[in-house]
Amino acid sequence: MIAAPVFWPRPSRLLEPLEVPAGKMADGLASLGLQTVGALLEHLPRDSREARTIATLAIGEQATVAVQVRSIRARPVRRRGMRPLVEASVYDATGTMRAMFFNQPWLVKRYPPGSELLLHGKAEARGGFRVTHHAPGSGSPAAAGAAPDAPERGSSEASGAAADGGEGEAARVAHYPATEGVSSTQILTLVRGARPALPDVSDALPARTRAAERLPDRASSLSAMHFPGSADDSEIARARLAFEELLLAQLLLLRRRARRRARADAPALDERPSLSERWLEHGLPFALTGDQRRAIAEIAADLQAPHAMQRLLMGEVGSGKTVVALYAMLRAVEHGRQAALMAPTETLAEQHFATVQSLIGAEPVSAALLTGSTRASRRREVVGRLASGELSLVVGTHALIEPDVRFRSLAVAIVDEQHRFGVRQRAALDEKGPPHTLHMTATPIPRTLALAGYGDLDTSALHELPRGRQPVRTGIVVGESARGRAYDELREELAKGRQAYVVCPLIDEDAPSRAHPSGRRQAGPGVDDGAHGAPSARAATAELERLRAGELAGYELSLLHGSMRPPAKQEAMARFASGRAHVLVSTTVIEVGIDVPNATVMLIENAERFGISQLHQLRGRVGRGEHGGRCLLMGASASSQRLRALAEHSDGFRLAEIDLELRKEGELVGTRQSGINQFKVAVMPEDASLLERARAHAQSIMAADPELEAPEHALLRDELERLYGREAIAPLRA
Ligand code: ADP
Ligand code: MG
Repeated sequence: MIAAPVFWPRPSRLLEPLEVPAGKMADGLASLGLQTVGALLEHLPRDSREARTIATLAIGEQATVAVQVRSIRARPVRRRGMRPLVEASVYDATGTMRAMFFNQPWLVKRYPPGSELLLHGKAEARGGFRVTHHAPGSGSPAAAGAAPDAPERGSSEASGAAADGGEGEAARVAHYPATEGVSSTQILTLVRGARPALPDVSDALPARTRAAERLPDRASSLSAMHFPGSADDSEIARARLAFEELLLAQLLLLRRRARRRARADAPALDERPSLSERWLEHGLPFALTGDQRRAIAEIAADLQAPHAMQRLLMGEVGSGKTVVALYAMLRAVEHGRQAALMAPTETLAEQHFATVQSLIGAEPVSAALLTGSTRASRRREVVGRLASGELSLVVGTHALIEPDVRFRSLAVAIVDEQHRFGVRQRAALDEKGPPHTLHMTATPIPRTLALAGYGDLDTSALHELPRGRQPVRTGIVVGESARGRAYDELREELAKGRQAYVVCPLIDEDAPSRAHPSGRRQAGPGVDDGAHGAPSARAATAELERLRAGELAGYELSLLHGSMRPPAKQEAMARFASGRAHVLVSTTVIEVGIDVPNATVMLIENAERFGISQLHQLRGRVGRGEHGGRCLLMGASASSQRLRALAEHSDGFRLAEIDLELRKEGELVGTRQSGINQFKVAVMPEDASLLERARAHAQSIMAADPELEAPEHALLRDELERLYGREAIAPLRA
C-alpha cells in the first residue's frame, strides 16, 4: 500500500498553454479555441473509423493505415516546378506499399526505418499510396515529443487521421474537426503529446450519479474518445460525455426556472375571477375540452403567483389554443391590467384578432389590432390608448414591441409560434412588463425534445380535438387507377360545393420550392419515392396547367407559391377564401395562414418527400368546418412507415413520437427542431433517453442541493460556470 504510487491530480496542468511555434498552425489552433492543454483534451474527435490494412485497399480509395517504415528516401526532382517527393516503402501484417509524401523532404530524417506511422491518403495503382496526412504511431521513435508537421501544402482537406495500437489488427482512428492551418492528424499528434495530462482532468459528475448510471470517469472517457480501442468503448465514452453535457444543460434550465420562481417580478393575478368566470360559463358557444380545462387551471395557478409565468402551450392547429390564451388575457383585464397577443405574421395576427373578437362575444372588453400595415392615424390612436390604459387587449405583430408602444400596465403576453421570434424581440416584449408569458406552438413536440429545447418552461398540451371535429380521414394513393379514383373523390367534393387543395413539393419543374426549405429529399434509403431527382416530382406551376386541361377541367384553379409577389399571393388566397377559386394548387406555403372551412379535400403530391409533422400540419387545413376532412397522400409506396403513420394516427403528439422513433432508426434525416441541437456531444433525437435520465438526475440534485453548495457538487458548479457563465451559478434567491 505504502509503496503504491500516489497520483495527485494537478488541474493547473490543464491550463498550461499548448506549445506550438507561432505561425499558421498556431493561428488555426487559436481559431478552434485550442490554446491550452485542457482545451485540446476537450476537443473531441468528430468520429473514428477503423484503420484499413494494406491488402484490403482498393485503388482510388481514401483510407487510413497503420504501417511501419522499411525504407525511406528523397527522390531527386528532375524538372523545375515538380514537387519534391519522399518515397517510403511501408508495410503492415498484410502487405507492403509505396507511400508518397509531397513537399516534405525533411521526413526522411523524421521517419527513419522502423518508425510506426499512421497514413491517411489515397490508394493508387501499382501499390502506390499518396499521403495527405500523417502522424507518428505510438511506440515509434518519431512519436516521442514530436512536434506535428508543418501543414502540408496542397492538402486543404480538413480531415486527417491517426490511430493507436498497431499490433497488426485494425486500429481505430480518431478524426478531428480541423481548420485551415491545422489538420486532424496534427491535432492528434498534439493530443498524444498532451496525453500525460489526462489524469489531471477532474470529474464534475457526483460519484453517486456516476455509480447510479454506471458511467466511466471523465478522464477515461476522454481517453477512449481520443484513442479509441473498440467501437463499443467509444460509444460508452461518448454517452458518458453526452450525459454530462445534458445534465449540465438541464441544471442550467432548472436553475433558471427556480430563480424565476423565487423572484417577485410580475403582478399576482389572484383576485377572484369575475369576468373570466362569467365568460367561461356563459360566453362560449361550446363546452371546453378536458385538455383546455386542464390548461386553463394550470395557467390560473401560474398567474396567481407573483413571478412571471413562462408556460408553453402546445396544441396543433384547431385544437383551441386561442380560447385558453384569451382566458389568460381576461384574467389580466379583470385585474384592471392589460394583455397582448403577438403573432409572427400579419395574416395570423388578423386571424387571432377575429377569433378573439368572436370569442369575447358580448363581454365589454376593449380590443384592437396593431400591425405593420395599421394606418398611421389608427396606430397613433391605439398607441395612445395603450399608454393611457383605456385599451385592455391588443393583438398584433412585431409592431407591438416597437419602442414607442408603451403599456400602462401589461400583465399578460401571449407569444404565438415563439420560435419565429428572435431573442431580442422576446426581450423587448419583456421590457414592456415583464408580463406573465404564455408561449404557443402548433408543432407538437415529443416530451423529451421539449425538455431539451424548452426545459425552463412549464408546459401544457392540448391533445383532444374540440368536440365535433373529426380527424381528417387520410389515405395513401399508389398507382394509376388509385390516382384516378382520388380525382373522382376530389370532383365529388367540388360537385357538392366544397373546395380542395392540391399540394406539390416544387414550384417549377427544375427549381426546388423555396417555401419548402428542404427541396432536397427528406427520405433516406429504404423510402423509395420512385422519383429519383426533381424532374418527376410534381411542380405546382405545371400541375396547375395539367389539371386545368385534364382532371379538373371546368373548375376555377388558383396558384400559390412562395416566390410569388405578396400582392399576387394575397389575390390567390382571397380568390380561394371567397370561393371564387374551387381548387388551390400550391406548394407548402399554405402551412400557415389559411383557414377556409369550406375546403374538405387535400391531395398531396409526392407525399413521401415531406416529413411527418409537415404532412400533419398540411392536412390540418382541411375539415375545419362542419364537413369532415379528407387527405390523399399520393405516394410511390404504400409501405412507407411515415405515410402509414399518418393514415393511422390523428394525434399530432403521437405522430411526433413516431417521427422520433423513425428518425432514430435513420429513415429520415429531415430538418431538426430548432433549439434542440445546441450540444457538442449529445445528438438529438438519438440521445433522447439519455436526456430523460439526465433530467431526472438534475431534478434530484436540485431537490437536494439547489444552490450546489455541497462538496460533491462543487465541481458541477464550477463546470456550470465555465460553460454558461456567472448567470448559471448566481444564487436562486437574490
Ligand atoms: P388553434 O389556435 O389552436 O389553432 P383555435 O383556438 O383557433 O385553434 O380554435 C379553432 C376553432 O375551434 C375556433 O373556431 C374555436 O372557436 C373552436 N373551438 C375551440 N375550442 C372549442 C371547443 N372546446 N369546442 C368546439 N369548438 C372549439
Ligand atoms: Mg389559432
